[in-house]
Amino acid sequence: MVILYWELKNGGNMEKKVALVTGASRGIGKAIAIDLAKNNYIVVINYCQNENAAKEVLDIVNSYSEGIIIKADVSNIDDINSMYKQIKEKFNRLDVLVNNAGAIIRPAGWAEISDKDWQKTLDINLKGVFNCTKIFIELLKNSNNGRIINLTSTVGISSVAPVIAYGAAKAGVISLTNAFAKELAPNITVNAIAPGNIDTDMTQSAGQDLINWVIDNTPMKRLGKPEEIAYLVSFLASEKSSFITGQIIEVAGGYDLR
Ligand code: NAP
Repeated sequence: MVILYWELKNGGNMEKKVALVTGASRGIGKAIAIDLAKNNYIVVINYCQNENAAKEVLDIVNSYSEGIIIKADVSNIDDINSMYKQIKEKFNRLDVLVNNAGAIIRPAGWAEISDKDWQKTLDINLKGVFNCTKIFIELLKNSNNGRIINLTSTVGISSVAPVIAYGAAKAGVISLTNAFAKELAPNITVNAIAPGNIDTDMTQSAGQDLINWVIDNTPMKRLGKPEEIAYLVSFLASEKSSFITGQIIEVAGGYDLR
């Protein structure tokens, strides 16, 4: 009876799983947060700079399930520790970690990239994934369905020289996926998604000429939609993916066919 009262009072969320999506204010992370909410997860929406955009995502998440927003720069370990503290205090559980936050900073090849841009690119895209994983393992290992899903890129598999640091960081994410999959089995599965070219701010910032070239060279003849990544995240987060770990799954409309 007491349990029933507690469940009713809390919207019946006793059995709800908690998912953290880093970089969920825009683009792919936003679509992931919304699809997880549609699948009844409580969603922690992490953002770095765009609070208003994160609040808009929260409104959508709340229309399907429930969520909170947390500001944290994943390249800053103090921010990640603070995010951990907030999630532990509020929910005392985490079932799904989606390491989605990423940035190109400034496209540059080996000859022109500055030391500062190199470092920042690796700090966000690689060190951020490592530190989030390391810090949230403690909560994830208490879940009976722990999942880590990393966002790498086709650029991490087959490098594109004009974004040399981003490609190196994304290749590093593949290595982390492999290493953590071995370390964390059988309790937690760890997989990565390697998108091709998805229609987000990141891709739009490349300019229309490059986008036209990409579309021309993609067998599906279009950019991907953020939702087409989110659906795979929801599958990998679910119990249906229970025997899949250490995999890098390309979602690229055939752009990756070599
Ligand atoms: P996006 O549209 O540029 O959005 C980036 C998201 O990451 C935003 O929510 C941003 O938050 C957040 N973010 C950036 N730096 C952060 C930091 N230091 N700490 C926390 N959050 C941070 O990017 P996207 O296209 O959706 O990409 C999402 C992921 O997919 C990235 O890992 C990206 O590398 C990967 N990916 C994308 C493509 C593509 O074609 N779009 C292809 C392959 C891989 P704020 O807005 O709040 O700052």
